[in-house]
Parts: sequence; structure tokens; C-alpha cells
Amino acid sequence: MRILVTNDDGIYSPGLAALARVATQFGEVKLVAPDVEQSSMSHAITATRPLSYRSSPVNFPGVEAYRVNGTPSDCVALGSHLWATTDLVLSGINLGYNLGNQLWHSGTLAAAKQAVLLGMRGFAFSTTVENGEPDYPIIEKYIFDVLTLLKDETSMRLININLPRNPTGIEWTNQSVRQYDARIIPGMDPKGRKLYWYDFIPLEPAEEGTDRWAVERSLVSVTPLRLDLTDNARLNELRTQILV
Ligand code: MN
Repeated sequence: MRILVTNDDGIYSPGLAALARVATQFGEVKLVAPDVEQSSMSHAITATRPLSYRSSPVNFPGVEAYRVNGTPSDCVALGSHLWATTDLVLSGINLGYNLGNQLWHSGTLAAAKQAVLLGMRGFAFSTTVENGEPDYPIIEKYIFDVLTLLKDETSMRLININLPRNPTGIEWTNQSVRQYDARIIPGMDPKGRKLYWYDFIPLEPAEEGTDRWAVERSLVSVTPLRLDLTDNARLNELRTQILV
């Protein structure tokens, strides 16, 4: 299996190195990641200037690694162009969860989405940094287990995985969509001028069976996703009506 590993935290993220370490146990790995952090860039592509890449051997002994002057989606598009027989794209490990409605903003997930759009499979991995740096050996063991579980399940093309600090198991979940928990938080710069942060604050307890619910219970959350946003229930109702 030929695996392209990318992320949105940038080529120097320790999360990327950790994911690459696991990936090498499943196939031939190439690393193509943004040269600077691209978190919350979602599925942005670079269309108004050219893309380029440079070799980036730091931290990845034995694995070809390249840094790109673009977004996570650019990295997948360019990487799979240069390495045309890529089977699978792994994105992450993002340092910070990608849960619920945060998926709309996630660059980590967008790289996996780009893979699916281009005919490959895409898995996004995220973990928490709320209480400090992740314990990589523990997280890597669970990523190994998840990849073992998913690698032959080819009917699932796009998968979002979140890993709590010390997992006790793995759970299939759905995306928590009941609330949107992002808010603008006002602040001030040293000269007293107003500044604003876009931040996420959970407002309500998570619904049972969702991604947020799982990580709160120290379970690795595995959510199969799809790209079709059509509201089929509503569409079927509408199709029973006669349009004049
Ligand atoms: Mn990120």
C-alpha cells in the first residue's frame, strides 16, 4: 500500500512524525505537508499563485518528506500528482480535537476529503493537547489498531478519528451536530485596542454515541463520513410535491 501522510499543523509538527511512524508499518510512505501551520483552513486551495515543494528530511529518517507552500488540500493534490499511485491519505495527527461542527473548519479533515475527491481513501486523525503534549507511544498504538481495523474496509472512504489522552477502547460514532459551539471572545492588545479570538466552548453535554461523547469517555472515536451534503429526507418529501 502506498500511503501519503499530511497534516494542517505543518511539516515540523511532532504529530505528523508520529503518524508517519505508524504508517510505515502498513506500507510505503511519503510525507507531503504544508511548510507553515494551516490549521482551520478547511478545504482551501491555492489558485492565485503557483505551488512548489522542497525536500524536508528533518525528523523523518528513511521516509521521503516534502514541504509545500500551500494548504493541506494542496498537499494532497500535489502529492498524489507526483506520486500517482497513492492508495491512502492519512492526515494528522492534529494537535487538537476535530469534533462535531469543528469539522467544517478542519484542515486536517479537508486533506482527507481532498483524497476522496481524487479517488483515494482519506483518514483524519486528531488528539487533544488540553493537558499537555500527547503521550505519543500510547496514541500510536491506538492508531495502529484503528488502521488495522479500517485498512481492508474499502467501503468506507472518508473517516474521522479522534484520540483521547489515555484511550480505553475504540467506538464507532456519529458527528455531533446539535450545536455550534464557536464564539468570538473579545480581548485587548498591549495598547488597549480591541482584539477578538474565534474560540470553541462546549455549551451542552454531548449526545450519546457521538464523537464528543466518545472522547469524553476516553474512547477513540471513529466516524465514517460522506461528501454528499444533500438532505435526502427533505428531498424525498419535496419530490412528492408537484412543481408548477
Ligand atoms: Mn491543526
